[in-house]
Amino acid sequence: MSHEGIRFASKDEQARDNQASRPLLRIVITPEKVRVLMTEGKGLEIDWADGHKSAWGFAWLRDACPCATCADERAQEGRKAGQPKPRPAALLPMYAPPPKPASAHAVGRYAIQFNWLDGHSGGIYSWEYLRRVCQCQECTFTDAETTGTPN
Ligand SMILES: [Zn+2]
Ligand SMILES: [Zn+2]
Repeated sequence: MSHEGIRFASKDEQARDNQASRPLLRIVITPEKVRVLMTEGKGLEIDWADGHKSAWGFAWLRDACPCATCADERAQEGRKAGQPKPRPAALLPMYAPPPKPASAHAVGRYAIQFNWLDGHSGGIYSWEYLRRVCQCQECTFTDAETTGTPN
């Protein structure tokens, strides 16, 4: 009397099949072109690798500074990125020159940093952050759609 042994696929064989390349979950956000329109005093323009185009004015960028101090201040005052500080209505408006950077430089391959004329320079504007706060019609429209409360 002889029994044929039942043969299971070995554990090693199964493991090998499951190790097929995993999909990358990280979305790589890369700018194709970054233009700082310094002499024009206009702002920052980015053409993204996926064909999207973004532009921000310097004043907006200054009020969207992503450093911890500015982000805390905005959170406390309930301001969104790029929203200017409320000015006291009772006082005569003092002339303040519009925010402009004295210089701008790349931080590694992932961000840009501005040295503002008011002396502030702590904010590192990562590509990821900038793409998230894109002000183009398409992006701001979807924003208003999802929150349902455009202002
Ligand atoms: Zn800041
Ligand atoms: Zn956009």
